[in-house]
Amino acid sequence: MLNKNIDKLKNLLDNLYNTYDHSFLETDPLSIVKEYKNERDREAAGFITAMLSLGNVKAIKKTVRSVLSVMGKSPYHFLSDYYPEKEPDKFRNISYRFYKPEDISLLVSWTAQMIRKNGSIKDFFLVRFNEKDPDIGHSLSGFVKRIRALDAAPFYKHAPPAGKGAGHFLTDPEKKSACKRMNMFLRWMVRKDHLDFGLWDEIPASMLIIPVDTHISKVSRYLGLTSLSSPGWNMAVDITNSLKIFSPEDPVKYDFALCRVGMLNKCTNGKDPDICSLCPIKDICVVRENFTKTNT
Ligand code: SF4
Repeated sequence: MLNKNIDKLKNLLDNLYNTYDHSFLETDPLSIVKEYKNERDREAAGFITAMLSLGNVKAIKKTVRSVLSVMGKSPYHFLSDYYPEKEPDKFRNISYRFYKPEDISLLVSWTAQMIRKNGSIKDFFLVRFNEKDPDIGHSLSGFVKRIRALDAAPFYKHAPPAGKGAGHFLTDPEKKSACKRMNMFLRWMVRKDHLDFGLWDEIPASMLIIPVDTHISKVSRYLGLTSLSSPGWNMAVDITNSLKIFSPEDPVKYDFALCRVGMLNKCTNGKDPDICSLCPIKDICVVRENFTKTNT
């Protein structure tokens, strides 16, 4: 960790956590999952929502609502009885970015197969969970491999390769991907507070890894939480290890707030002092500090 202002950083992180609370939920796809009250529905809707969380929030929500509206009031009940070979066209009108209708249909089919195979996504995940691992990475890798082995018919002969169509959903820590959406889904399911559901209490929150996207990557670098520049699995572990200094049992608690800082502030990398003066991380931001030093 780069930043030497440990006490200052702890105060800042705790203030951010308290500031960016559930009142900011509408800025996140998690708000859709919260609309479901039943645990199994939250798990099923949560998985599909997290996997489609790519791009801007408005577009994500629109797509997720289109998919979930096909499932009626209970995604869990729909999925428990969804056999795509009988109804291959159920999601034929829905596409999103580079996901074609067959990719979204396969995502739904994989979710249905996990539920039918083990009773729930949690129990499907727990088959490869090892509580002795230092973090969730190895278990997540096993989970992804199990999904890849599920039936891809009638949409594909085999699951598309990683990074292509539906294969893009199946990011794997072993391949050094940051696995942002998978880690976000795990955060929603494992952590418990005003935001996250805490439905998977077999997994300690201390094993979670922060979901790194462009916002988390940037804000974490600016706060000195990582010196790595490439937003992959190693960066996610590095940031999480830094956050463990402040919250060893629940390092990922800061994810939602740090992401809002990145999303909601129009950072110009220190070039605009007026923007920096309003920024909640201005007192610790290493970029602002360096920019000010170089230009005075
Ligand atoms: S203090 Fe300025 S440079 Fe740093 S994150 Fe905020 S807006 Fe960006």
